[in-house]
Amino acid sequence: MEYPIIPKKPLEKFAVKPNLQDYQKMREEVGWDKIARELDWYDNEHINIANVAIDSHLKTDRRDKKALIWESKKGEIEEYTFLDLSQLSNKFANVLNKKLGVEKGDRVFFFLERIPEIYIGIMGTLKAGGVIGPLFSAFGPDAVKDRLADSEAKVLVTSPALKKKIVDILPELPALENIIIVERGREKKDPHDLSYEELMAEASESFDVVKTHKEDYAIMHYTSGTTGKPKGAVHVHEAVLGHYATGKYVLDFQEDDIYWCTADPGWVTGTSYGMFAPWSNGITQAVYEGGFSAKRWYKFIEEKKVTIWYTAPTAIRMLMKAGDELPRGYCFDSLRNLYSVGEPLNPEAVIWGERIFGMAFHDNWWQTETGCIMIANYPIQDIKPGSMGRPFLGIEAGIVDDDFNELPCGEEGSLALRPGWPSMFRTYWKKEELYESQFINGWYISGDKAKRDEEDYFWFVGRADDVINTAGHLVGPFEVESLLIEHPAVAEAGVIGKPDPIAMEVVKAFVSLKVGYEATEELRLDIHKFAMKRLSRAVAPREIEFIDSLPKTRSGKIMRRLLKAKELGLPLGDTSTLEDD
Ligand code: ATP
Ligand code: MG
Repeated sequence: MEYPIIPKKPLEKFAVKPNLQDYQKMREEVGWDKIARELDWYDNEHINIANVAIDSHLKTDRRDKKALIWESKKGEIEEYTFLDLSQLSNKFANVLNKKLGVEKGDRVFFFLERIPEIYIGIMGTLKAGGVIGPLFSAFGPDAVKDRLADSEAKVLVTSPALKKKIVDILPELPALENIIIVERGREKKDPHDLSYEELMAEASESFDVVKTHKEDYAIMHYTSGTTGKPKGAVHVHEAVLGHYATGKYVLDFQEDDIYWCTADPGWVTGTSYGMFAPWSNGITQAVYEGGFSAKRWYKFIEEKKVTIWYTAPTAIRMLMKAGDELPRGYCFDSLRNLYSVGEPLNPEAVIWGERIFGMAFHDNWWQTETGCIMIANYPIQDIKPGSMGRPFLGIEAGIVDDDFNELPCGEEGSLALRPGWPSMFRTYWKKEELYESQFINGWYISGDKAKRDEEDYFWFVGRADDVINTAGHLVGPFEVESLLIEHPAVAEAGVIGKPDPIAMEVVKAFVSLKVGYEATEELRLDIHKFAMKRLSRAVAPREIEFIDSLPKTRSGKIMRRLLKAKELGLPLGDTSTLEDD
């Protein structure tokens, strides 16, 4: 399906000139060497993410600039300048280094709500040379245990309520030496736990940031678990080059921006783009503690005067589900750029953005493993709804066949990247073989299927595991799902291949409905007819089943493997990242 191109905004119409104005020229002129020179290094080999993100601004006019505007679920506001964050993270670094004996390379994990202490703690840990590992606060005990055991974390920072959830698993974590509890005056901690507040009160505000090597481990992020057991992707301090550059040229950070990234720090978007990208660019970011709520989110944009908003397709689909009437009650004049990542962005959602906010969502593609945005739609280019955009500066992307040779434009194959960019993962924790198996023939093989067109736009087809083989046709679920959600009754769709003796697989769609629609046989037939009209016979779903809601990961990705396992009565596999389990 082709959708009309959304033409680029002419340069003269930009009130603030974008950082990336000529894609081709910039691709030729801007490489990682040039980007590296813009950051604060100790010498050619040593850099520390937290120094770049926080302390480097103290030497500039940004010293007293707001770095973080935080709003709690109850509506309380707290503001932190770069100087505040510097001093607080120094204190935390002292707590780890001097009090708890944390050394370079030790893992410090965070199982916390989205409160300021997670930002302070992460920056403090990086300053102390530790390796950070954030966990979704919504995780259950098993998900927490798996990750803490695998990473052999030495320190866990959590809250009284979250600790209660995991007390039973703590005896099974021999490497875990200390638990720090952030009380925030809300609840009392167990008397034998360490109190964040008490430790911080005693700690000094000055700390000599550990001069980490660019290849020293800094961040451990477990993947979303969409396709199987989550893997611990490990990133190094040099990754900050990728966060900084994509913040500058894709998100187009400008000095006076108020930026909002809706991702939880438990997911890589919440750290790469909820901490490192904005702050390495010296940008103010607004954070809302709570989860999704259409009303609260619209109000937050209006009140905080958000200029750049980075969110995910699942959230956009939920906003669409809440209807077009609600956003009419809010003012979105402050908004300049909208972005989306995490799953394919349905063309319908791109177009909806135009209608509601007067601008399209810019889709971009990357993974936990890639550490930063790899393929993107930039503010200065045409948007082709349904395309993830073009490779970032310094990134070479290609489509390869089953023998890992590059394919020409238009052909579907595996999406691959030439290794060597700064934020590329350096290993899967304790899974070196799996890591190495993904580098073949000079490419990093992403595990996604895609194609590229003549103008170097990339089009997502599906995850390799999700692609359906029906009567000799390869069908990406995304194409079918995107069409189904164009039906007025359909809120979301998840599409799988169901084994079939004749066609090998047939396409089956699970569909959830918008409020006000009833799951009747008549509606099912209507959706079927709608799909048959718009999709070829082979691609249109043979079966459509109504479902209240689709199984999703905590980061909002549709877990098609669960739909399939349930359909076939097979074991569910790893469900540690499943939402609302
Ligand atoms: P796991 O690797 O554990 O199965 P995951 O792949 O979902 O989980 P992430 O690293 O969070 O873990 O997600 C990266 C994947 O998300 C990509 O490989 C791709 O399949 C999907 N994705 C991200 N952005 C986009 C996008 N813009 N369009 C299409 N797919 C996307
Ligand atoms: Mg993956």
